[in-house]
Amino acid sequence: MVDSFHGLPLTERLQLARRGTAHYSGQLALLDNDQFAEPTALEGWTRNHLIAHVGYNAAAICNLMDWAATGIENPMYPSPGARNKEIEYGATLIPDALRNLHDHTVARLDVAWRDAPAAAWDAEVLTAQGRTVPAAETLWMRSREVWIHAVDLGVRATFTDIPEVILTTLLQEIPGKWRGKGDGAGLVLVNDTSGERTEVSPADDTHPVTEIHGDLAGLVRWAAGRGDNGVSTPDGAVPQPPRWL
Ligand code: ZN
Repeated sequence: MVDSFHGLPLTERLQLARRGTAHYSGQLALLDNDQFAEPTALEGWTRNHLIAHVGYNAAAICNLMDWAATGIENPMYPSPGARNKEIEYGATLIPDALRNLHDHTVARLDVAWRDAPAAAWDAEVLTAQGRTVPAAETLWMRSREVWIHAVDLGVRATFTDIPEVILTTLLQEIPGKWRGKGDGAGLVLVNDTSGERTEVSPADDTHPVTEIHGDLAGLVRWAAGRGDNGVSTPDGAVPQPPRWL
């Protein structure tokens, strides 16, 4: 088995992004309009905010595909402030408008991917976090969004629904982000099913070794900051993970 999303052929990555989108859309369809204003587990966000964010994220990724296809710079968002402002605005829309926003932006993104010239996938674009990536990275960016935010919608989806290759890739990416920020000293993620150990960074005087045990879905859930269900530590207390994004 390929152990990373990034190593899969383009067609399979596209398929995982599409499957994730269908999965997210399915969760959205299970919600009644009067549930949209309810809070999510994401700090300060109702479902309105989350649904607006996922819709605008698709539109922002369309910008990157357009940039890749035309060579004309087209960033995801004009500024980090603009991204947040857009979400705040989107959260004021009525549920049917949010459903339309979702359907419309998802369809646009699907067409942008479908019609992307072969050379566009390798063209370099800039993510909202300021990373230069080939446009093909949008397949990962979007997959990560829809598979995780399907859980955040708080309907039925869980981390165990997420395809193994996506979980495995997250379990490489998230500790990598921590390392890059100098976080996670002493943390070791132990997959109790496979026995695999992911050492984040060496322990030091102030950060002794802390083993977090769980299955793949539980470890990713914890690492992504979605709670400690499904993980445990030898001494019983599960710490908060470092911030990821
Ligand atoms: Zn997001």
